[in-house]
Order: sequence, then C-alpha cells, then structure tokens
Amino acid sequence: MMKMVQDVMEENKRLKEENQTLKDAVIEFEKENDELHEQAEKLDEEVNLLECDLKNQKVIHENMKLHNEEALLGAQDEIDDLKQQLEMITKVADTLQAEKQKRLDGMKEYRQANKEKICINVKKYKEKNADKVKAQKQSPKRCGCGAEVRADNLSRHKKSKKHMEWLKEQENSDVEV
Ligand SMILES: [Zn+2]
Repeated sequence: MMKMVQDVMEENKRLKEENQTLKDAVIEFEKENDELHEQAEKLDEEVNLLECDLKNQKVIHENMKLHNEEALLGAQDEIDDLKQQLEMITKVADTLQAEKQKRLDGMKEYRQANKEKICINVKKYKEKNADKVKAQKQSPKRCGCGAEVRADNLSRHKKSKKHMEWLKEQENSDVEV
C-alpha cells in the first residue's frame, strides 16, 4: 500500500514536470511566432514603401513624358510657323522676281519696237552734245582690275594682259571659295 501511494506521487510529480516542459515549449513557440509576425510586418512595410516609390517614379516618369511631348509639340509649332514664314517670303520673292523680269522684258520689247526712234534720238543727242560726249569718252574711268582707263579705250583695255590676268585671278578665287 505504501508503495502504491509512493508510485502515484512519483507519477504525479513526473506529469507536473512534463506539463511545465510543455508550457515552456508553448511560451517559446509563441515568442518565436511573435518575432516572425514582427518580421512579416516589417517586410510588409518595406514592400509598401517600395510600391509607393515605384508609384512616385511612375508619376515622375509620366510627367516627364508629358513634358517632353509638350516641348516637342511646342517645337513642332515653331517649325510650322517658320515654314509658313518661309513660304510667304518665297512667294514674295517669286512675285518680285516675276515683276522684275516683266519690267526687263517690257524694256527689251520697247527697245526692239522703237529701235529706229531710239537710234535717231541718240544720234540727235550726240550731235547736240558733241562736246559733252567727247569729254565723257575721254574721262578716265576706274576698271575693276584697278586700271584707270578712258571710256573710249575700255573695250581695248579689256583685251589687255593686265585685265585678262586680273580676270583669271578672279575666276581662281571664285573656285577656291
Ligand atoms: Zn581692267
């Protein structure tokens, strides 16, 4: 009988000890669980931050894209304006050129149609102003080559060595440019 009581007490003590061990294990497990939860929360926060960052970057990127597109459109507008201006200027230049040609043609036509009349007029003028014409012919003129030549000598001068050499130089410098 004494032995049985002793056995039960022993068993009871063993169970109590086991129970304590289990309790300790549960506490340890809960502690670990809490730590894992904490880590998970921290990771979640980091992910959130990264997502926020990504969103911000996307917004920045979109804004930059928009800005670039606007700048591009602005530049395109400017180019269009300049093209229009160029077109207008070209039109005006063409009109002026046509006008000039028309006047030249008109002068040529007039001269051809009135050749005799003009010849007579010139002859009359020369007769009337013989002294003046003579003075004009004899008055020295500065040629492009630098030589001073009398007007009535100009055509002969243009065949001279000095003038020809100057012409050649002019041509060469034109080629170089
Ligand atoms: Zn000359």
